[in-house]
Amino acid sequence: MRLTFHGAAGEVTGSMHLVEVGGKRILLDCGLFQGRREEARNKNQHFPLAASDIDVVVLSHAHIDHAGRLPILTKIGYTGPIFCTPATRDLSAIMLPDAGFIQEKDFEFLRKRGHEGLAEPLYTAAHAAAVAEHMIAVPYDRPLDIVSGVRLTFSDAGHILGSASVVLDIEAEGRRCRLVFSGDIGRWGLPIIRDPKPPEGGADVLIVESTYANKMHESVEGAQDLLGGYVGAVAKRGGKILIPSFAVGRAQEIIYELHALARARRIPEVPIYVDSPLAVNATDVFRLHPEAFDRGEELIGATPDLFRFPLVKYVRSVDESKQLNSIRGPAIIIAASGMAESGRILHHLANGLGSHRNLVLFVGFQASYTLGHRIQSGEREVKIYGDMVPVRAEVATIGGYSAHGDRTELRRWVEGLGPRPKRAFVVHGEPDQLEAMAGILRDLSVSDVNAPTLGQSFEL
Ligand SMILES: [Zn+2]
Ligand SMILES: [Zn+2]
Repeated sequence: MRLTFHGAAGEVTGSMHLVEVGGKRILLDCGLFQGRREEARNKNQHFPLAASDIDVVVLSHAHIDHAGRLPILTKIGYTGPIFCTPATRDLSAIMLPDAGFIQEKDFEFLRKRGHEGLAEPLYTAAHAAAVAEHMIAVPYDRPLDIVSGVRLTFSDAGHILGSASVVLDIEAEGRRCRLVFSGDIGRWGLPIIRDPKPPEGGADVLIVESTYANKMHESVEGAQDLLGGYVGAVAKRGGKILIPSFAVGRAQEIIYELHALARARRIPEVPIYVDSPLAVNATDVFRLHPEAFDRGEELIGATPDLFRFPLVKYVRSVDESKQLNSIRGPAIIIAASGMAESGRILHHLANGLGSHRNLVLFVGFQASYTLGHRIQSGEREVKIYGDMVPVRAEVATIGGYSAHGDRTELRRWVEGLGPRPKRAFVVHGEPDQLEAMAGILRDLSVSDVNAPTLGQSFEL
């Protein structure tokens, strides 16, 4: 048996690992490299495998850093199955074409700026939409034989809707082996989705993420109180709350939290605008997957539709979006992108940053060099659409909504596996986080721990 790491090795993005066993080749994830444009592009352009090198694909969840190279794979001729949960299939059906659309726009942008000898976009929205033809939905906790001698079971990873940890029970070459791939591990107590469920029964081989292995997050429980507090304060002064948000996952969590606060009359009646076509589509996908909801949450049992209540309005058209510029406060506007790099949040920020009455509220991670990061770190003036805009609005951050487990949660997840893994590989983290995750594993008496580099293979 052999394991090769083709992404998220020594870094966060590009998740892709090849398992070769008994003559069969199973690809775990097929994610896009993201980050610095040129570097990511180079890595994405050189797909390291041929379509004929792969028998089956298993996808942990719909995030682009896990699914975003699937359209490349089908483009080069892969026609085999892609196993994922039902919610992952449906989220991928909107997220992959969106990623394709971004590739096309990106290409257009560079071409217009006179870049010579540009390679074609990695893929188009149409290529990406075709991936759905190959996806086979497998519910959580329903073992399925995917190739001879390999049984797949998905376990809820509690990270985003449909996210899974992957268990492969392998019987080949006269031996048995249980391989567990964590996928991205979420947090206990996040709104809407269930808590992470570490697959029980231990693992011979563990591939585990480490995004925040060296970090402690704010509590999930405190996040709703903070949100309610901000809404109350800004409504009182008649301002707008601008929330840059990822369209899938975070936007729905914030709508849900505002719904819960409104139902309990803990916030004043402020209109809420969800101004992102992708977020509106993703909200529809959430509605289709109540099987993935956390039945223990009060709001889930109490309302027929988590995302529809009198205060919330979904905005699709560009005209409607622009009309929001002329409304007087108080109002809440949730718009993508999450790091304010593109999308409709830009025109809301250009329009609203100048007023003391407004609040820009960050509810997600802001990577260095993004507009979101500049505003968050207190710059007094920022460039939007080529113009300098003064920042007079209040700026605040709620850290509790992270979709990734922190140090204690990653440890809790590994402990939840039961018997300690015999061998572990740490992936999906910056070097210091990988080191911290290796430390957690050694502390839990896992002696054989590796942090693979890109392209590295291991015989097991
Ligand atoms: Zn993820
Ligand atoms: Zn990820």
